[in-house]
Formats: sequence, structure tokens, C-alpha cells
Amino acid sequence: MSAAAFSCENGRVTVKTEPAKKAAQPNLRLRITATAETIVRKGHPWVFAQSVRSQNRPGATGELAVIFDRADRFLAIGLYDAESPIRVRILHAGKPRAIDPGWWREQAGAAFARRNGLFDAQTTGFRLINGENDGWPGLVLDQYDSTRVLKLYSTAWLPRLAEMARLLEGENRLVLRLSRNIQKEAHDEFGLDDGTILHGDPLDGPVVFLESGLRFEADVLRGQKTGFFLDQRENRRNVETLSKDRSVLNLFSYSGGFSLYAARGGAGRVCSLDISEHALAAARRNFALNQEHPAVARCRHETIQTDAFQWLRQNTWERFDMVVLDPPSLAKKELEKTDAMAAYTKLIEASLARVNPRGILVAASCSAHISAGEFFGLARDAARQSGRKFDELRTTGQPPDHAATFAEGEYLKCIYFSLSD
Ligand code: SAH
Repeated sequence: MSAAAFSCENGRVTVKTEPAKKAAQPNLRLRITATAETIVRKGHPWVFAQSVRSQNRPGATGELAVIFDRADRFLAIGLYDAESPIRVRILHAGKPRAIDPGWWREQAGAAFARRNGLFDAQTTGFRLINGENDGWPGLVLDQYDSTRVLKLYSTAWLPRLAEMARLLEGENRLVLRLSRNIQKEAHDEFGLDDGTILHGDPLDGPVVFLESGLRFEADVLRGQKTGFFLDQRENRRNVETLSKDRSVLNLFSYSGGFSLYAARGGAGRVCSLDISEHALAAARRNFALNQEHPAVARCRHETIQTDAFQWLRQNTWERFDMVVLDPPSLAKKELEKTDAMAAYTKLIEASLARVNPRGILVAASCSAHISAGEFFGLARDAARQSGRKFDELRTTGQPPDHAATFAEGEYLKCIYFSLSD
């Protein structure tokens, strides 16, 4: 790992040195198993440690690794990670290409161009770079008005962070967020902490941005993900169109994204339920930020701070005209999949039981380990088991700024039921 490349003065990060100069040593060259070769050729962005057959020398995290195929031809180039089970994150596969500053600029430009025309001035919060799906494995860049948030999921980016920050900083401010598993190493080896401002003015609270004309806070310094769940935008828009004159229960509400859209769509009453008081306080502030919308001003908004699982077990009498169910990922690992599927089934059954006749259930899952087919299957089974008459209104997947190019990138799915009795 290279020496610390950053220092923090007056809350601002300055680049002291460039990442440690490479000692004169040969490029890191890897050979991988035949199966892994086929997978990489098809465009998959990960090479796992157990797929590496040989390498010419030990590699350092963050350096470029060139993968050669059985015939000794260039196959791909990627970021080496000495500690992660994902040993190489592919940056480029196919014809040999130098990964130089021009290449990085092209990659950033291509990712930004994919968002052209997706959003108008009423939506100033969206994803600019969606990790491996945009060719930036383990790196996410979100825009909230004039603040950008760079979130890293791999230490392999840390040695080249100065270069990346210059390339991605945008017009006003760039905030660094670090996934929990890399925070210690980032601090110890690079002097970098979660929530560091890499560029632009200091910040001590959330930033406000627009989504479909609604104003929301994004807690870019400390909030989950990069401060807001941008990925549910399209489902929230759908909820808005279904909310007129309904009472709505928003389970796992976070900062009230679905609640605000339901309110603007004409819901008479909206309950935001979350275990986090911090999230619910943000939901109340988000309602306060949107009082210029008459329907939001008219809507009765309540917050319930509790464990949703427990609440669903204990509160068996209350009914709503619409229930939105958007829990956190219940399967973070493949091993948790069976339990997670059982937990989703229980949540959907309990939510269906809270829906009034002629009501609606919107159920989402963000677990990458559970496929859309599996989730929709268990949701349909739960709806059938309820013994109630229902129609499936629609299913949805990844939003356009979070488009997925490989199976593991397809984490979001959502199913809409209307109940007729
Ligand atoms: N629907 C939200 C995102 C949900 S994220 C949106 O559109 O923005 C998941 C939320 O579940 C988080 O806010 C987290 O605090 C909450 N949560 C996690 N475990 C919970 C539990 N057991 N009961 C209630 N809320 C929980």
C-alpha cells in the first residue's frame, strides 16, 4: 500500500503527494482459470482470488493488473486488490488499451453521457456513475444539486484518489464516503475518513436537492448510501399516481421519500415508520420543505419510530389503503438467502393483512442475492396464500441512472398488487 497521499487542514483535504511512485518492477501479470477467462470475455467485471492460476509477482492493492489468456494474448486489465476475495476489478477487456489520464476522462465522459436527457431541472439528484455497471468497479458517484458524493467500496481506489477526485469533483463540492469495510484501512493508511470534503466548501449538515419537483435533504456526510435512496425515484413516482385520497403506511420509510410523493399525490394521511429517529426527523423536515405543494400541506403526516417487524406482529388492527414496503437488504450474503426469503414472505404477508379492501401493496427488495424472479415468485405466493382477490399491477427493476450490466448489479425489484376485497 502506498504512503499517505492526503492531509487534512481546516477540514479541507489537500493532496500532499501523488500516490507513491512505482518502484521499477515489471507490470503485474495474471493468468486465470479457463472458466474465469470465459466469464471475463463475456464482460463480467470481477475475477475472484480462487480463479487466479498464477501471477508474475505479488501485487499491491490499487495497482493495475494485466490478465493474459491461455494463448498469452491480452484479455483484460483491472484494479488489483491484494486483500479482497474480488482480486481484480476489471476496467477494460478486449483490445489492449493503456489506462492513462485520457482513458479515465473518456470513461467519466461516457458515464455522464449515459445520463443525458434522463432528468429535467425538476430533478437535481441522480447517479452519475454506477460502479461496475458504468465501468468503475467499486466506485459510485452521486449528484445532489451542486454537491457530488464519491463513495468507494474498495481500497483499490485509495492510492489513485487524488487523480479521481480531480476528474470527478464537479462544480462545487465533492464529498468522500467510504463503505464500512474499508474505513479503518482508509484512515490508518491514507488519513482519509468517511465524510471528508475532498473539494469545495466545508459542510456541516445535509444538502437540499430536487427530485421530481419535491425538495429533499440528502445527508451526504453521514446518511446511508450516499445520503438518500435515489434508486427508488421511479417507484415513488408510481406511488404518487396511486395515492389519491388514500391512507398510506410507509414501512422502512427512511427520510420519507415515498411519503412525500404519496402526500403530493393526494393521500389524506401518511404514516412513515422507521426504527431510526434520525431518519424520521429528516422525514418531518422534508415535509416542512414542501409545504408550497397544497396536497403536501393538506396531508396528515405521522411518524412512528419502532421496529417494523415487531410493529407488524403487534399492531394487528390498523388498516391502510396503501402499504409501501421497502426494507433494507435482508440478504447481504449468499448464505443469508434462505432466511431472507422467509423474512420477505413474512413481511409481505403481514403487510397484505394491513391493506384495506380495494387497497394497494407496493413491495420492494434491494437484495442482490435474491433475483427478481425469486422475489416476485414469493410475493405472488404470499398474495395467493392470503386468500384475497388481487391483481398484479406491475413489476419494476433498476432505474435508468442505476442501469445494471451484470447479474449482481440487478439488485432492485418492486411489485405492485391491488386488492379487490
Ligand atoms: N424506502 C426508503 C429507503 C429504505 S432504507 C426510501 O425510499 O428512501 C431502509 C430503512 O429501514 C432505513 O431507514 C433503516 O433505518 C430502516 N430499518 C432498518 N431496520 C429496521 C427495522 N427493523 N424496523 C424499521 N426500520 C428499519
